[in-house]
Amino acid sequence: MRIGFIGLGNMGGPMALNLIKAGHSLIVYDLRRSAADPHLAAGARWADSPAAAAAESEVVFTSLPGPRDVEEVATGEGGILSKLARGCVYADLSTNSPSVIRRLNAAFKARGIEMLDAPVSGGIPGARNATLAVMVGGDRAAFEKIKPALDAIGDKISYIGASGAGAVAKLVHNMIALCSTQLLAEAFTMGVKAGVAPQALLRVVQDGAYGQGMLLKGTMPKMVFRGNFDRVTFALKLARKDLGLATEVGRELNVPMPIASLVEQDLLAALANGLAEKDSTAAVTIQEARANVKIRTAESETSTR
Ligand code: NAD
Repeated sequence: MRIGFIGLGNMGGPMALNLIKAGHSLIVYDLRRSAADPHLAAGARWADSPAAAAAESEVVFTSLPGPRDVEEVATGEGGILSKLARGCVYADLSTNSPSVIRRLNAAFKARGIEMLDAPVSGGIPGARNATLAVMVGGDRAAFEKIKPALDAIGDKISYIGASGAGAVAKLVHNMIALCSTQLLAEAFTMGVKAGVAPQALLRVVQDGAYGQGMLLKGTMPKMVFRGNFDRVTFALKLARKDLGLATEVGRELNVPMPIASLVEQDLLAALANGLAEKDSTAAVTIQEARANVKIRTAESETSTR
């Protein structure tokens, strides 16, 4: 495929190299010309602007810091939209705003071009080893068309849904990852202040049910998505007792634990709503009620891949 690639940073650089390695013909652009040295050495051509890259491409990828950079490169002066031919595909690999994505999608569609959101996960190692997860939103036929190129940058390629769906999925993923890090920090400060070595805590968390993937491979698909709260594997009253014991240690040792305290309030609300004898996962219904949305899905859809 003739591919234009714009944004050769920590992620875009290795992704573009993998596209070259897979036999695609690349024309590249970045604000920093030196970022393209390895690509030019591997046979790519240099473009003087995003428009110049788009003029010679069937598919254009961007991997840029954020929404403003993507809008400028996509629809600004000298941008992709000014030169990409009808019937071509533009895919943004950046982590972007779903509403910006939908706006860009409409602008490209009006000119007969499909625009996909295709954010990635897996960090620099994933980009280097072509083992990224890629989550794609937009026109399905356009997705199928560029799938061979996506296969060169990742090994977990998923079509998620309409324009913006890939961007939403990526934000869900990153929100969980970022908030979990703070939760781990909160729990570890409590454990260390209570006299246990951090390495020992890490080993226990890795070896325990949580570290073995219980939450995403068991609890979410088996219990929460199916609303299996009457199949009690760990009762809510016991969960409330455990979290209560943890926050008690935090109080004894003056360890502020804002996340655990908030979750404890949800468990208390669940008890107040008569869920004590249900499975502990029933506490998610407290958040569902607040947000006025349910996260159930048909049993057939609960397999994670
Ligand atoms: P980066 O800052 O390393 O790379 C961005 C590149 O874009 C740079 O080379 C920069 O010179 C170039 N650039 C900026 N504005 C430009 C413009 N107007 N025209 C042309 N080039 C321009 O960032 P990164 O870490 O490679 O991240 C890229 C995207 O991927 C971001 O949206 C990020 O959130 C996402 N992401 C990053 C990671 C990670 O681990 N770093 C993982 C997954 C997703």
